[in-house]
Amino acid sequence: MAAQVHGFQTEVAKLLNLLANSLYSNKEIFLRELVSNASDAIDKLHFLSLTDADLLQGDAEFKIRIKTDPTANTLTISDNGIGMTLEEANEHLGTIAKSGTEAFMKSLSGDQAKDSELIGQFGVGFYSCFIVADRVTVLSRSVKAGVAEGVRWTSDGSGTFESEHIERAERGTEIVLHLKPGETDWLQTWKLRNAITMYSDHISTPVFLWEEQAETVPDDNNAEKQPVFGWVQVNDAKALWTRPTKDVSDDEYKAFYKHLSHDWEDPLTWSHNRVEGDLEYTSLLYVPKQAPWDLYTRDTQHGLKLFVQRVFIMDKAEQFLPHYLRFIRGLVDTNDLPLNVSRELLQDSPVMQKLKKALTKRSLSMLEKLSQNAEQYAAFWKQFGRVLKEGPIEDPANREAIMKLLRFATTKGEGAEESVSLTDYVARMPEKQTKIYYLCANTYEAAVHSPYLEVMRKKGIEVLLLSERIDEWLMGNVTGFDGRDFVSVASSDLELGELGDTEETKEEKTLSDESVARFKIALGETVLDVRTSSRLIDSPSCIVSDGPTMTAQMRRFFEANGQQVPEVKYTLEINPSHPIILKALEQVDSDKFADWARFIYEQALLADQGALKDPAAFIKSLNKLLLG
Ligand code: ADP
Repeated sequence: MAAQVHGFQTEVAKLLNLLANSLYSNKEIFLRELVSNASDAIDKLHFLSLTDADLLQGDAEFKIRIKTDPTANTLTISDNGIGMTLEEANEHLGTIAKSGTEAFMKSLSGDQAKDSELIGQFGVGFYSCFIVADRVTVLSRSVKAGVAEGVRWTSDGSGTFESEHIERAERGTEIVLHLKPGETDWLQTWKLRNAITMYSDHISTPVFLWEEQAETVPDDNNAEKQPVFGWVQVNDAKALWTRPTKDVSDDEYKAFYKHLSHDWEDPLTWSHNRVEGDLEYTSLLYVPKQAPWDLYTRDTQHGLKLFVQRVFIMDKAEQFLPHYLRFIRGLVDTNDLPLNVSRELLQDSPVMQKLKKALTKRSLSMLEKLSQNAEQYAAFWKQFGRVLKEGPIEDPANREAIMKLLRFATTKGEGAEESVSLTDYVARMPEKQTKIYYLCANTYEAAVHSPYLEVMRKKGIEVLLLSERIDEWLMGNVTGFDGRDFVSVASSDLELGELGDTEETKEEKTLSDESVARFKIALGETVLDVRTSSRLIDSPSCIVSDGPTMTAQMRRFFEANGQQVPEVKYTLEINPSHPIILKALEQVDSDKFADWARFIYEQALLADQGALKDPAAFIKSLNKLLLG
C-alpha cells in the first residue's frame, strides 16, 4: 500500500509554522516533550500489563533510548511503550484538541521567549520537534497490532504528512528527527545529557543514551584506539516522591514539577508528605505561579496524577481535591486502592473520600504557610484568589480555614489591591464594633466612590469593598467570620448606633415629615419608601433595598442566562443637610418639585447601578433643571 498524504488540521499547520520559524529560545524543550511522551506511552502499557501480562511479549524491561547518527544527521528517541496504530498516528499527530489550540494561539504574545514557554502547557508537545528538525519520521507499532501493522508517519512540518503501514518487529515508538542545518549541536551527547538531566532525571522510566564509553579497547598495540559506544543510563529513574524529603533538593522538586505539569516556570510552593498508618499514601502537591488558561473552562479536567503502589494509574484524577483547589498540581501514590481502580470505582470509594479529606487539609495548610510570606501570597492571590472564593460555599467543613485565606480590598487597604484578610480586619475593629461591614459594587471604582461609604468614612469604620461577581454570591451564602456577622452597608436596616461617633457626627439633622411626604407623593409607585438618611455626608441621596441586594452586574448575569429577575423597588434615602435637597424643597410648584424629586431618585439609582433604563430622559430632565 502506498503512503497516504494527509493535510494537517488548520490549527496544527499554523502552529507548526510558528514553531518552525519563530521560536529561537528554549529550544531544548523539544527533548523534554518527546521524553515525556515516551514515558507516558510506557506508563500506559505498564498499566495495561497489570491485568494482561502477555501484552509485554517477553519485552518487559521498559526503557527510553536516545541515539544520534552523525552521518545521517539524525537524533532518534525510542520507547517500548504502548505504540500507535495507523489511525492513532493520523489522529494524534495530525490534529490537536481544538479548544486547547485556539486558546494557545490567542495567548501568544509575540514575545518569543514567552511564547515558547506556552508550548508545553498547551499539550502541543509532539510538534515541538519541528523546532530543531526539518523532517520528522515516526515509526511505531501498537501493542494491539501485529508485525505487519507497523506504522511509518513522516512530515516536514509544512502542511501535510504521509503515513503508511510497514513491517515492524519492535513494539513501541521511534521518533527520528532530521536535524535542521543550524541544529547539528544536538548530535553531541553532552548536550543531550545536559538537557535530559535537567528535565527527565526524576521520571521513573530509565533513559539511556548511546554514548562513547569511558574505556576504549585497543585491538593490538599498533592499531588506533577505537571508541566504543554503548547504552548508558542517564537518569536515576527513581520516582522522586518515593525518596525521603530530606534527600530531595529544591532544584529537584522544581524540575520534577516541570516534568509533571509541562509548566515552564518554577512552582510557587510545594508540599511533600508520606503518611503511614490507617491510610497509607504519599502526596506531592504544587502551587503553580501562573493560572492555566483553562482554569475557568467548565469542561476541562483538573486533578492529580494517581499512582497505586508506584504504578501510574490515571492522569487528572479530579476526585482527590475539591473543585476550588483545582489549580493544585501534583500526584498521590497510595497502597490502599486496587491497581485496577477506575474513575467510576473511585467515585464511591471510602478510601478515596478519606484521601480527599486529607489532601484538602494538606493543600489548605500549604496555602496557610504560603500566606505567611506577604509578597508570595499576593502573587498567588492575583492568580487564584477568585477560585479560592468558591471554597467557603463548596466546602463548609473547611469554611473557617478557607475564609482566613481570603483577601479583600477595603477602605483602609492598599487601593484596589486585595490584600486585607478577615483576621486583619477583625483585629483592627474599634472595640464596640461587632459586625463586619462590606459593600458590593460593579467595579472597585464604583465601590470606593459609593455614597454608602460616606458615613463609614466619617466614623472611621473599615468596609470590605467587593467588586467581583463571585463576591456577591459568596456574601449571600456565608453569614459571618469568627462569630461576627457580615452586614452590607447598602442594606436598608444598617444600624450603626453610636459606633465610631464623635461629638461632630453625633448631631443628627432630620427633615420634617411633611418634607419627606412631598417626595413620597412625587415619586409614587416608583419607590418603596422615602426616608431621611443617616449614612450620607456628601451625596444628596442613595437607594437601599430590603433583603438580599443584587448589583446591576449580577442582574445582567441572570438576565443574560435567560432568568427572570423580578423588578426591585428601592427605598430612597435623602440627605437632610444637602443643598440639592433643600433647593428641591424650595420648589412650590408641584410639577417642578416632581422634576427635582425624580432627578434626585435617578441619580441615586445611577450611582448604585451604573446604568439607567432611560438615560435620555434623565439627561432631558437634568437639562430642564439647569435652565430653571
Ligand atoms: P499530549 O502529549 O499533551 O497529548 P502531544 O502532541 O505531545 O500532546 O502528543 C499527542 C498524542 O500523540 C499523545 O497524546 C499520544 O496519544 C500520541 N503520542 C505521542 N508520542 C507518543 C509515543 N511516544 N508513544 C505513543 N503515543 C504517542
